[in-house]
This record gives sequence, C-alpha cells and structure tokens, in this order.
Amino acid sequence: MKYKTGQDRSQTTHWRQATRAVRGGTWRSEQGETSEALFITSGYSYEDAQTPAERFAGRAAGMTYSRTQNPTVQMLEERIALMEGAEACRVQASGMSAMSSVLLSRLSMGDHLVMARAAFGPTLWVTQNLLTRFGIATTLVDGRDLDAWKDAIQPNTKLFFFETPANPTMDIVDIRAVCDIAHEHGIDVAVDNAFASSALQRPMDLGADVVAYSATKLMDGQGRVLAGAVCASADWINTYLLPYQRNTGPTLAPFNAWVVLKGLETLDLRANAQARAALSVAQKLEKRVPCVLHPGLPSHPQHDLVKRQMKMAGSVFSFEVDGGRERAMAVLDALRLIDISNNIGDAKSLMTHPASTTHSSISPEARAAMGVSESMLRISVGLEDVEDLVEDLDQALHSVGL
Ligand SMILES: *Cc1c(COP(=O)(O)O)cnc(C)c1O
Repeated sequence: MKYKTGQDRSQTTHWRQATRAVRGGTWRSEQGETSEALFITSGYSYEDAQTPAERFAGRAAGMTYSRTQNPTVQMLEERIALMEGAEACRVQASGMSAMSSVLLSRLSMGDHLVMARAAFGPTLWVTQNLLTRFGIATTLVDGRDLDAWKDAIQPNTKLFFFETPANPTMDIVDIRAVCDIAHEHGIDVAVDNAFASSALQRPMDLGADVVAYSATKLMDGQGRVLAGAVCASADWINTYLLPYQRNTGPTLAPFNAWVVLKGLETLDLRANAQARAALSVAQKLEKRVPCVLHPGLPSHPQHDLVKRQMKMAGSVFSFEVDGGRERAMAVLDALRLIDISNNIGDAKSLMTHPASTTHSSISPEARAAMGVSESMLRISVGLEDVEDLVEDLDQALHSVGL
C-alpha cells in the first residue's frame, strides 16, 4: 500500500490551533480513509535491495523499523509539533521516558542541572538517584524565585528544568523570565507542560527550548494509554534526543499513538471546558474550606503571572481541609461520584491525597518544604456537570463534619 508522505509543512503551519489538532500530520492512503490508519507492524519490506541501503544511509526518507519510525507514530509527532509551534517532536512510551530522555540525552558527565524543587516525584528520583550515578549534579531551587535560578548557575550548567503549574502545590514559574536568565548564560530550558497542555500554555512562545509531556494526561484525555512527547527545534532533536531514543528504544506503540492522535482532536474543547469547570468548583470550595490553591483564583499569590502566560489555569487544583491526614482521607472515602485516583487529565473527575500517594516517596521534611501538607487534597476536574461535582464535594465535606 502506498502512503502519501507527510504533509508539506508550508501548507499546514498557517492553520489555526483547532485545525491543527484535527488535521495536523494526517497521512492518507490510496483507500482515502478519513480516520488516521493504525499500522500495527514492527518491520517494513522493500521493492529492491537498494531502497533500504538509501534509507539506512539517510539519503532517502521512508520506514526501516518501528523502533525508529512508524507511520501512525509519525502522524502523532507531526500533529503535536504543529500544536506546540515546534519544529520537531518525538514521542515516547510514557511521560517519564520523555522526561528521562530529555535529561539523559542532553546532559553528560560533569554537567550541572538546575531544577525547580516542586517537581513530579519520579523526575526528582531521576535527578537524585540516576543522574548522580553518571556524574551529573543537580541544584534544586524554589522555581518562583528568579534570584535562586540566577544564584544556582555554575560554569558547567547546561539545563534548567521545571514544571508549571507544579504538582500539587500549583506553584507557577515565570517562563519568560527564567528563559531570559538561562539564555544569557547559554543554558537550555526544558518545561514539563503536562498540567496545562498546548491548549492552555505554549512555553516555546515564551522562550523555552524544550517542552516535554506526559501525553497520558490531557492529550489522551480519557485515561486510556501511557504516552510521552518531547518538542524542540529540529537541531536539538537531531543532536541530542534522536540518537539517544533510536538506540535505547523508549518507543511508543502504534496503538497508543493512535489513541492519543484521536484524543488530540478534542484537546482544545476538553482542556478549556475542564479548566472552566475547575475554576467554578474552586470558587465554590473557597467558601467551604480554609485554603484553595487554584492559579485562576485572585487569591493565588501568582494570579497576575498566570494571566500573562496561560490562557486559563487548567483543570487540576488542590485544597486543604481542617483535620490533617485523617480528615482528608475521610473526605475521599465519603465521595460518591468523584473517583479516588492519583491520575489527572481524565474526562472523569479524580481526587487524591498527595502526601500518601504521589508524594509518599518524598521525606516528610521535603514534602513540608515543597508545601505538600497532610491535609491537602488534589482534584483533577473532568467533563461531568459542574453541579454534580459541587454536590458530591459538598456532601463529602458535610459527612465528615465540615
Ligand atoms: C504524569 C506526569 C508525568 C509522568 O508521566 P507518565 O505518563 O505517567 O509516565 C510527568 N510529569 C508530570 C507533571 C505528570 O503529571
């Protein structure tokens, strides 16, 4: 079956965001299928012996082996790159393979990394337990403190890495200001954009060199598959990421790529609807509990920064209840609609107690330093009717005496 090769970029980069999400990267076969085809194949055959020779030598485009390329996977990469405004994208088997690929492909023995302390647990593990084994040192900083980023720079600093909004404290990093500091010193900036997605925040527009994703979250959006993605300039991808990825093999399966490809078609609708719903739920909760950490509320200390760099504040936020761990867990146990789950970005609303789940591997002291308290709950707001969510939270709080 002969496939039209990828779309001509010059024809698609003028498309607006919604159009990119639905049509970006689509290849179409001679069958004229409207939905993207799913290529479940590990290998490829050739018409003659010279064809693979040309492809292996890099003189001709075309598939050679699915660890390196697969048409369904490539459609997803092209679509994500277009939505991100990036020259290139490579997808991986999970968000964590994307994060570790960025760190391990960019950094070498003797290099130094500066990272915001409010980070995803496994990303912290990679820097504290894996990079150290290869002689790569990390300085953790408060990502909100611009002077801390400046002061942490050493002659061998190669990369800044942060998440914004950060999990579960909802700390915001000033993307443009941190990128300016880094670039003055020839340092690359990588942003984990899982909590916002390109629908709500595009870090490259603000100067980031690399944007890494857990596509498991809002991109799939329906809690089905694990996937990750790295976006950067073609030069960055070809110099650092591609040789690493081809030879170590954190490859995304075609089926999972196809699921995310279809998820992206509704990303803009879902991300905006879930963000609006999350803000409504947060406004209601603010009247019931002592503390709501939602970047879209005027009570958030970085609310002005959020307005500058995000379209909307996203679908995940945290809040605290009186009564510590016991009361927080009792609230979860009293829920009737919202699920107890540590996942985020699903169409179903999910709630977790970070101190005993996502952040349980971090010491109590480090948790306290990050601002993750025992009485904190985190909610990922889905696509249910907001009134039903508010009613469920209200009855759960009421049933534990709050
Ligand atoms: C979930 C998540 C990851 C890891 O992604 P997986 O797909 O679960 O491997 C990394 N960073 C952030 C911010 C996340 O929410």
